[in-house]
Amino acid sequence: ETILKIENLHVNINDREILKGLNLEIKAGEVHALMGTNGAGKSTLVKTLSAHYDCAVTQGKITYKKKDLLELDVSERANEGIFMSFQSPIEVAGVNNSYFLKTAINAKRTHNGLSEIDAMEFLKLVKEETGKFNIDRKLLQRDLNDGFSGGEKKRNELIQLLMLQPDLIMLDEIDSGLDVDAIKTVANVINSMLDGKKSILMITHYDRLLELIKPDFVHILNDGIIAKTGDYSLALELDEKGYEAIGIKDANK
Ligand code: ADP
Ligand code: MG
Ligand code: MG
Repeated sequence: ETILKIENLHVNINDREILKGLNLEIKAGEVHALMGTNGAGKSTLVKTLSAHYDCAVTQGKITYKKKDLLELDVSERANEGIFMSFQSPIEVAGVNNSYFLKTAINAKRTHNGLSEIDAMEFLKLVKEETGKFNIDRKLLQRDLNDGFSGGEKKRNELIQLLMLQPDLIMLDEIDSGLDVDAIKTVANVINSMLDGKKSILMITHYDRLLELIKPDFVHILNDGIIAKTGDYSLALELDEKGYEAIGIKDANK
């Protein structure tokens, strides 16, 4: 069952065309890795999918769970089960992280016809979920992303993932700057969420995370389109040979 279908997507940033007719289809339960040289437009793609204001769609169609995704605003997309981990998440001083997360969960529950969870249930669930992976939950007492270190931001995203249980998970370089143990935790959390229904689109430059997660598909984004698609072995080949050797020209050079 197709969860996301992107057809002929053209996206401008600051009036410059970054995505130039991109096609991509993701079925429920699949893990897709997105690779490509710096500046290829990987972040632009996932930002577009999460309705980031930088990205102007000029052409094309995006269907998510049979709905026109472009008709849904940021919060509707979240309530419909889309989760996005940004390369540079915003800091929100004055908004308590725990409050933010509980509000997001309850907005999603209400949207889907479920009752809200109260503070007690929320805490119980946080303890259960973070406990499984030994994730420090002190972060929840602070303001959202305010002064979070790189590692803390990533850890916070893992807590959000576990609590929100989204259907389409997009991770933009969630492994960058993490040590080996932290990457293992990321992989454990993500693997635990793969229940055959949830789908993942992950951007990474590094082989280590892919080795632990084993994507079903590996795509290379180049010159505004998916230039090459393969299975996990494409990531291995890329790691070994580099982009140029597999016929991908760096458009920025
Ligand atoms: P990647 O994630 O593959 O490294 P990006 O999607 O971040 O690439 O960027 C694609 C292109 O869009 C790059 O040339 C980048 O400089 C440009 N770009 C991204 N964000 C902005 C922005 N806010 N303003 C201007 N240019 C941008
Ligand atoms: Mg980049
Ligand atoms: Mg990027």
